[in-house]
Amino acid sequence: MMTHALAGEQTRLVSGSTSRSRPNGRRISKRSKVVIATVISIGLLLALVHLAFPSTFALRSTPNKKKNVIFFVTDGMGPASLSMARSFNQHIHDLPIDNILMLDQHFIGSSRTRSSDSLVTDSAAGATAFACALKSYNGAIGVDPHQTPCGTVLEAAKLAGYFTGLVVTTRITDATPASFSSHADFRWQEDLIATHQLGEYPLGRMVDLLMGGGRTHFYPQGSDASPYGHQGSRKDGRDLIDEAQSNGWQYVGDRKSFDSLLNAHGDNVTLPLLGLFADNDIPFEIDRDEKEYPSLKEQVSVALKALEKASDEDEDSNGFFLMVEGSRIDHAGHQNDPASQVREVLAFDEAFQYVLEFAKNSDTETVLVSTSDHETGGLVTSRQITASYPEYVWYPQVLANATHSGEFLKKKLVDFVHDLGATGKLENFIKHEILERDLGIFDYTDDDVNTLIHLGDNANAIQEKLNDMVSFRAQIGWTTHGHSAVDVNIYAYTNRKTTWSRILEKLQGNHENTEIGQFLADYLELNLNKVTDLIRDTKHSLNFSATEITNEVPHYDEYYHELST
Ligand SMILES: [Zn+2]
Repeated sequence: MMTHALAGEQTRLVSGSTSRSRPNGRRISKRSKVVIATVISIGLLLALVHLAFPSTFALRSTPNKKKNVIFFVTDGMGPASLSMARSFNQHIHDLPIDNILMLDQHFIGSSRTRSSDSLVTDSAAGATAFACALKSYNGAIGVDPHQTPCGTVLEAAKLAGYFTGLVVTTRITDATPASFSSHADFRWQEDLIATHQLGEYPLGRMVDLLMGGGRTHFYPQGSDASPYGHQGSRKDGRDLIDEAQSNGWQYVGDRKSFDSLLNAHGDNVTLPLLGLFADNDIPFEIDRDEKEYPSLKEQVSVALKALEKASDEDEDSNGFFLMVEGSRIDHAGHQNDPASQVREVLAFDEAFQYVLEFAKNSDTETVLVSTSDHETGGLVTSRQITASYPEYVWYPQVLANATHSGEFLKKKLVDFVHDLGATGKLENFIKHEILERDLGIFDYTDDDVNTLIHLGDNANAIQEKLNDMVSFRAQIGWTTHGHSAVDVNIYAYTNRKTTWSRILEKLQGNHENTEIGQFLADYLELNLNKVTDLIRDTKHSLNFSATEITNEVPHYDEYYHELST
């Protein structure tokens, strides 16, 4: 109740005095002369404009005050990821060299990514730059360099009458979605982040739709008998999934219930919607069992229909703001796994294309902006593999031959070692099952096989070796298991000509990542500082007691994004 009243108050506060031009029928109808002149002028204008504009800029006869923004984050995708995925796509489909990705067709500029405390950002500072339009330190989730919670584009949009959503392929509590929907001094406070996302902080519920992985932070640790999953990790024993449903959230936790949401009109979704399809990450696209997990494009299609429908049915709605993350491009980069990364990029490109079609067919003014928080892996599409002067080549076919990720195969191999490793069958399993069948590698050496045998059940070392065998043969290079400081690309689209000019004015060329966040805020006419004033009392810090630090140690390996236990 309080939340509702507060939200109404804040809606006026935040959207306050906007300069948005809205049709005012009453005023015009009182001035008939003006009407006639206006009709004639508009008629002439329409005739001229219709000739001048590209067909993709739709001219609508019915003015629509609403705006939709879909903001995409390709986590860890640098320019080399694009050229690698583009060449891979051309190769596997036998396409001409001028066949480019959908994203490529909407390239407008590049972004500088440094954080407040390093030239190399992490995802938390990167996303906070988009969400709050300010630079913060590595690890910061929706807080400024002084650890003061900062109002986000998503929060301000919600308070200004927009529906809001987050769709990802990693944990929904991970850095990128968290930075739009919560406030925490450190990214690994994911138990706290989950509570903010469900509305447990001064603003109340700000997100209408949450979809992705990361169920683990929504139900208790050690809850083997939970109906929701097998790897709950909440330390406080709370079951947020139960609580959310009691508070009116619709919960979907598996492919079957997700499929029940998929119809032409989004009729089966009630907001707020909590869709958590994996305890941790949704598997890489190269490994994804479509009978078990939805694709990013499928998630996005449900989100768009649900948000559009909710917005259409609410005459006070101003439209919607949706953040979509191609989350695991970054993980493939951390793991130096090129075969997985090209599939992640292409899956993202499909989701982007789906949204593009949605925008082209929408009567509502719609803006798409897509960028990355940083590059991951120091990826280069070349690698010197001999002492002599290198050939100018790299081989996409090697990536095409691989049918699983190193992440998947390390588990497969470790399971085999645990079950049958002592029976003398390991060498054959490595050669014929892992290398030949799963990775399509037949030119392995005795050294390769012996190395894998001697790694035993050292999962991460096995993953490293397998991914390097693929990268080496494809002649793909990596300089790090972390992030790099190279600039990343900016892409955009809108279905309105005047808005396109505005996008180019603000984002064409090279920009700081904070300028992208500022553009989103300005375009939606949001005042982030006013939201910052409203969230001063948010709990965002640790108490720094010894027990709390022990209990709150990061659950995930920093580089491999996996449970470290
Ligand atoms: Zn990132």
